[in-house]
Amino acid sequence: MKKHNFSAGPCILPQEVLLKASEAVQDFNGSGLSLIEMSHRSKEFVDIMENARALALELLGLEGKGYKALFLQGGASMEFVRVAYNLLETKAGYLNTGTWANNAIKEAKFFGEVVEVASSKNENYNHIPKIFGVPNDLDYLHVTSNNTIYGTQMKTFPKVNIPLVCDMSSDIFSKQMDFSQFDLIYAGAQKNMGPAGTELVVIKEDILGKVSRKIPSILDYQVSIAKESMFNTPAVFPIYVSMLTLEWLKGIGGIAVIEEINNKKAQLLYSEIDLNPLFKGYANIEDRSTMNATFSITDEKLKPAFDAAWKEAGVSGINGHRSIGGYRASMYNALTLDSVGVLVDVMSEMERKG
Ligand SMILES: *Cc1c(COP(=O)(O)O)cnc(C)c1O
Repeated sequence: MKKHNFSAGPCILPQEVLLKASEAVQDFNGSGLSLIEMSHRSKEFVDIMENARALALELLGLEGKGYKALFLQGGASMEFVRVAYNLLETKAGYLNTGTWANNAIKEAKFFGEVVEVASSKNENYNHIPKIFGVPNDLDYLHVTSNNTIYGTQMKTFPKVNIPLVCDMSSDIFSKQMDFSQFDLIYAGAQKNMGPAGTELVVIKEDILGKVSRKIPSILDYQVSIAKESMFNTPAVFPIYVSMLTLEWLKGIGGIAVIEEINNKKAQLLYSEIDLNPLFKGYANIEDRSTMNATFSITDEKLKPAFDAAWKEAGVSGINGHRSIGGYRASMYNALTLDSVGVLVDVMSEMERKG
């Protein structure tokens, strides 16, 4: 039986995407070749790459606005490095909202000075800092829109006169916003888009070429743009599956439609967490993520019974990250409202039985 997959990443993908992807592994569109044994320079794959890049810009509403979309390799963690390599001349600002932001800061420090404009570290990242100044002499400001581990999400972004860079790994394509407020967006595929092995980078081209250091080709965004995201052999299969997911999203009506569903899922689960005395939310209410809901059980003695009950109901992947414990239910785009209903039923049944 197919599980109700709440995994934080790699995560659930639409069933029809998995089906098409598995067919392509056997025989791509009747070509007599598997997609993964085909040249990445073939017309078939070049079309996939172009389509994936175009769909990303279209869904984000960034077509014709000076942006380029790339599918690169190394994960979001590689972009912690590439961003600083390409943009950090002397000093950059970082908003420290969690483990991933912290990792981005560590990498940036290899390239220059890092100003932590604000941090929620002292409260173990249970909220998003809201009031802080951003010096005007920074090369860019880096933020993390959704903090996958802590279950917090930025609902607004600072208005700045410097390039705004966003790690959107765990909430890209999940809700509408003005994506043109960002100059660079990156996201590992495996949280809301596809399998691990590629990451999407969307860059406003005019922010590039400003640093004085020499950049090795494979790390240079301008080289990747010039080579149309094919400087070296791209992650053929992860990019194809990402393209299928983006097609699926466009087919159901795009981000506006999925946002409504995501809001319903989050409301359903958070209202259970708030109303059921057996459970307690982790993140501050105003900063709660619609993607990753973090919570704990109030009476640890009930944990074995709860764990047995959700497993019995076919729920998978809700154990919390080791750094905060408890539970984390990730509700990425492909997870259905029904699956959230199954988890909520298990939680309310626990309360009913006493
Ligand atoms: C998972 C995650 C990362 C790291 O992604 P990798 O692709 O494993 O490098 C970075 N940032 C955020 C917000 C994440 O959720």
